[in-house]
Amino acid sequence: MKAWRLHDKEKLTLDELPSQSVGEGCVKIKTLACGISLTDVLMYEGKLAPGSLPVIIGRQCVGMVTETGENVTGLVRGDRVAADPFVSCKTCAPCKNGRADECEKMLCCGLNDNGFMSDFTVAPAGVFYKLPDRISDTDGVFLEHIALSINAVGKLGLDKGEHIVIVGANALGIILAQVALYYQAVPILVDTAADNLALAESLGVYYTVNSVDADSMIKIFSLTGGRMSETVAFVSTSHMSFGRCLDYAAVGGRVAVVGRSQISDEMAGSFNTVLDKQLKVAGVNNGAKLFPAAINLLANRTVDVSKLISCEVKFGDVENSVREHAENIGRFVKAVVRP
Ligand SMILES: [Zn+2]
Repeated sequence: MKAWRLHDKEKLTLDELPSQSVGEGCVKIKTLACGISLTDVLMYEGKLAPGSLPVIIGRQCVGMVTETGENVTGLVRGDRVAADPFVSCKTCAPCKNGRADECEKMLCCGLNDNGFMSDFTVAPAGVFYKLPDRISDTDGVFLEHIALSINAVGKLGLDKGEHIVIVGANALGIILAQVALYYQAVPILVDTAADNLALAESLGVYYTVNSVDADSMIKIFSLTGGRMSETVAFVSTSHMSFGRCLDYAAVGGRVAVVGRSQISDEMAGSFNTVLDKQLKVAGVNNGAKLFPAAINLLANRTVDVSKLISCEVKFGDVENSVREHAENIGRFVKAVVRP
């Protein structure tokens, strides 16, 4: 099999690996589409450390089952599936108490375990979720963001009619805003990239704030009737500042840091605001086990990802595309690789 493996900072190569046998409880899939995520780009730049090297990149994958091992039920050859990259251990206390997303030994494929940027992948059947025909191969790549957004909204305890200021209008931020709308909350999306904000508006996110040309504090003050926002979500893979996002929260507000990233030192200064405003801050880095809910929101078009694919990349061009992302992070919403 052929796989894109990161060996070191800026050293991403297409390697020929021996084909894996399909053991008990496992399935083999042929990759149909795989998203290039900001996590992939940050690892390539050496800004986010993977568990070990080399590692196959790629966390957001749709494939077709080509082979099933013994004792696999529910999946057969020819099924189209999406991969949940977060694999919980099933043995730690949170796992045993039904909180798999807080697993103490969580594996994330493409970060601290091999991902899916390969022509074929063998993995436990439990990683894969069958896709309905209504969801295309490329749209399925966004399920990981949708599952993460559902988890973030849950962790924030977002209620009907509440505001949620979302800082960072990348693919994850725009999807989180759409999920918040589904929960009948009022998303306010903040970014400095006018193109991304316009894209979000075209997808039904009415309140956007460009923090370059508007005084974002005044605008959010006005949109929230002077109360500021009950909840704030900071998209950690965005280029926005964490400290500023806390200013948008009401006293006693709830804040979530959403996604995987290396958090920079500038956050240290933010703890004064956390104390001054007695904020409740949660970290949410996965949407483990929420794929069935995410598939539902995508299949019934509650979340519309149709405009979020900025380019399709040939399998052989992954390294070029990841490097281009690193050089110009704002230009891409989502690149999808089609082998
Ligand atoms: Zn666990």
